[in-house]
Amino acid sequence: DAPELIKDGEELIVDADGGLVICGPDAGESARYAEKRRLWQARLAAEREFAGKPCRTKDGLNVGIGLNIGSADAGELEQVKDFDFVGLFRTEFLYMGKDHMPEEEEQFEAYRRVMLACGDKPVTLRTLDIGGDKTLSYMPLPREDNPFLGVRALRLCFNRPELFRTQLRAALRASAYGNLWLMLPMVASLEDIRRAKRIISDTAEALRAEGKPVSRDYKLGIMVEIPSIAVVADKAAEEVDFASIGTNDLCQYLTAADRGNPQVADYYQNYHPAMLRVMRRVIEEFARRGKSVGVCGELGGDPLAAPVLVGFGIDKLSMSAASAPGVKRSVAMYTSAQLREIAREAAGMSCQEEVLAYLRARFAQ
Ligand code: PEP
Ligand code: MG
Repeated sequence: DAPELIKDGEELIVDADGGLVICGPDAGESARYAEKRRLWQARLAAEREFAGKPCRTKDGLNVGIGLNIGSADAGELEQVKDFDFVGLFRTEFLYMGKDHMPEEEEQFEAYRRVMLACGDKPVTLRTLDIGGDKTLSYMPLPREDNPFLGVRALRLCFNRPELFRTQLRAALRASAYGNLWLMLPMVASLEDIRRAKRIISDTAEALRAEGKPVSRDYKLGIMVEIPSIAVVADKAAEEVDFASIGTNDLCQYLTAADRGNPQVADYYQNYHPAMLRVMRRVIEEFARRGKSVGVCGELGGDPLAAPVLVGFGIDKLSMSAASAPGVKRSVAMYTSAQLREIAREAAGMSCQEEVLAYLRARFAQ
């Protein structure tokens, strides 16, 4: 209804951060936003210095920075050169916006393109995450009262063995062309992990029996985005090669606040001390067992959260390309010992408001 609401020639403020369009702002509003823009531009300029540099604490501890991608398009793959790895390759793009299920060959070609573009760099390919709020026109799913708590992602793949097997065949075949890290979404239990592992190893064996090469070195990992698996992270770490914390879903399941519902946005608290403590636990349990652990949800690319995660001992963070300079800048502000102390303080606080005030003061934002 924009044409009815906006007068011709009227001044508009587009606040993409806040999700607002302000029509005909008054002088005070204009001035406030002009100042906001000035600060934002100054921050971008300060961050720009860090683009293309490694992510390092003040005392030289390195943190791997990965890229989140959502397609196999040349434009997106071109950005990989500035990153240490692909930390999240969302594969839904192959399935959505189509009128048919993508065949093995089509998927294989897309995955191979990504593997080849990344050379030796790990490509964390996440298996299909459909269900929840994402649906497919050609695969009607039964109506559910609570789709985010229903047959989503890995659960859907278990229910549709052909769908899962086709994707796994394509991904495992692509493993011969690079460094595949296969990652399972929406894992809730050790049974989930063991069941998926059986299907994956059967699929790899079947491919080899057909004479199709499959790498012997691909890694298998899980997304930690359901609280139950986070709580048994010590056990999960013994079953897989790596974990990546999906903070977007972890937050919604931990705080019982739908990530897409603006009415409960205030309850969806990324900086809830419970989030910090759960993430700390996962990081420590995986690190203790010498298993790689990263974060690929939005918090990993947040300049206030990333240094805290480094303080907890995370060894890699994955994010959209635009987030990397800001993360590098805030990680570089302190030594690793100082970040450990900041993380300890933050996790010991009682509520999000306190955590945010503390981190904003420490990172001057
Ligand atoms: C997450 O849940 O944090 C995540 C990275 O996955 P998605 O946003 O695709 O659900
Ligand atoms: Mg998720």
